[in-house]
Amino acid sequence: MDRARCAVCGACSAVCPRHALIVMGDALVVFPGRCRPCGQAALVCPTGALVCPDADGGFPPDGIPGEEHDG
Ligand code: SF4
Repeated sequence: MDRARCAVCGACSAVCPRHALIVMGDALVVFPGRCRPCGQAALVCPTGALVCPDADGGFPPDGIPGEEHDG
């Protein structure tokens, strides 16, 4: 993810079915372990901050670290 492009709008958080992205205060917190790269967050991001290369590519985990767990 390109944090410089993130407007912290929350659109990705709203569509993520696994809550892998959450807006907390003025930051987007990323939980990479929760992501199953469905691509929805990248599709709705209005600034191009998120890139999801393909379904097997995973989510680039370079946001603010959060708790990583599966399930
Ligand atoms: S949709 Fe894009 S701009 Fe909005 S919070 Fe998510 S990464 Fe940031």
